[in-house]
Amino acid sequence: MTDSVSPPPTVRAVVGALDTRYPHAWAEHCDRVGLVLGEFDTPVSTVLCVVDCVPETVEEAVAAGADLIVAHHPLLLKGVSSVAPDTFKGRIVHRLIKADVALYVAHTNADVANPGVSDALADRLDLTTLRPLVDHGEGRGIGRVGELAVPRTLAELTAFVAERLPPTAAGVRAAGDPDSLIRTLAVSGGAGDSFLRDAVAAGADAYLCADLRHHPASEHLAGGGPALIDVAHWASERPWLDEVAGWLRRQLGVAVLVSDLDTDPWTVHSVSSHKEIHP
Ligand SMILES: [Zn+2]
Repeated sequence: MTDSVSPPPTVRAVVGALDTRYPHAWAEHCDRVGLVLGEFDTPVSTVLCVVDCVPETVEEAVAAGADLIVAHHPLLLKGVSSVAPDTFKGRIVHRLIKADVALYVAHTNADVANPGVSDALADRLDLTTLRPLVDHGEGRGIGRVGELAVPRTLAELTAFVAERLPPTAAGVRAAGDPDSLIRTLAVSGGAGDSFLRDAVAAGADAYLCADLRHHPASEHLAGGGPALIDVAHWASERPWLDEVAGWLRRQLGVAVLVSDLDTDPWTVHSVSSHKEIHP
C-alpha cells in the first residue's frame, strides 16, 4: 500500500516551477528575480503571495505558518553590502531566516509573462481580445490592450475601475474629457509613464496604470493622446496575486494565501471642492 497523501514539495521544487513559468531571462536587465533566501530542502505546505515584502506582510506570513513568500517587488534590488539587523531590509532578512520562511520574487519577468500581471488586471476589468501593449512575441509583453465589455464614458469607467480594483486611500483618478467614450483600454500593472507612447500607438481610447506624473501626463494629453486612468500601484498588481496563487495550488497542491494588506504608501486622501480664495 502506498500513502495516498504525497509529501509537500520542497522550496527547490516550488522555485523550479516558478522559474519555469517566469524565466529569469524575461526580467529586465537591472531587475533581480528568483529565490532571495531560504533553504532548498525545506518542505513547503503553505505559501503567501504579496506585492511587497515588508515587515507587515512578513508577520502575516509568520502568523499564517507560511513556508514561502512569493513577492512581486524585489526586496534587494540594488547592491547590498550589509544585512545588519539594524537596517530596514536587514531586519526583514533576519526575521525571515529565523522564522524559516523562504522568499521568492517574480517581478518584470511576471509582468511580461502570459498570463502575467497585466492579464490579471485586465481580467478584473472584464477586458476581452487581449493583446500586449508592448509586444515581446508569443503573446508576451508589457501591458495589455483590450475591449471593454460595455463602452463607458471616462467618468463611468473611472468609477467602474474603483469598484473592481482593491480599495486604497489613493483611489482612482482620471485625466481627459470625462464624457469621452472608451471602448479600447490599455492597462499596465505598476508604474506606466514609460509606455504612454505605446498606448497612443495601440489606438487605445484610455490608458490605465499607476504612478503617473504631472508633466508626462499633461504633455501626453496636450499631444492628443488617449485619456489616462491613474490607480494605486499596489491595487494594479494585487489582482496578479490571485492568478499566481491559483496556479500554485493547481500545480503543486500547496495551500496558498493572498495578502490583502494594502502596502501602498498613501494612506490619506482628501478632496476639497472650494475654490482658492486669497484674502
Ligand atoms: Zn510594481
